[in-house]
Amino acid sequence: MERTLAIIKPDSVKKNIIGKIIDRIEAEGFRIVEMRLVHLKAEEAMNFYAVHREKPFYADLVAFMSSGDSVVLLLERENAIVRWREVMGATDPAKAAPGTLRRLYGFSIERNAVHGSDARDTAAAEIGFFFKS
Ligand code: GDP
Repeated sequence: MERTLAIIKPDSVKKNIIGKIIDRIEAEGFRIVEMRLVHLKAEEAMNFYAVHREKPFYADLVAFMSSGDSVVLLLERENAIVRWREVMGATDPAKAAPGTLRRLYGFSIERNAVHGSDARDTAAAEIGFFFKS
């Protein structure tokens, strides 16, 4: 069993599709270990995405991620990290495969509906960021 960190981003929460995304999470065989509605402060979004500090889109990304509520979820299943990335689809919704969450619900490369950890070390760090226990 493996764990990963998922976020239902503010664009999805504003569109009232938390339920649709959680339906998909459950249908794909993930167990929700922990889950919480959060409104990230700008400083928290900056820290969470610190790896992108030098990118031209960093300020916009921080503003977006702190613009409203998100849902953070600790997910568990076999091969959870890779599997959740597959269910999300590519970063840019226009390039994401049909049926993936980002293709279905993403608006732009920034407002792309959901987040998922990309590797074991980042998953551990991101889980620790939101779920202190
Ligand atoms: P992810 O692992 O697929 O989420 O992609 P990255 O780690 O590369 O980027 C993190 C987040 O930054 C993405 O999910 C988007 O919300 C945002 N992002 C990535 N690339 C761009 C970009 O070129 N422009 C803008 N505005 N946002 C981006």
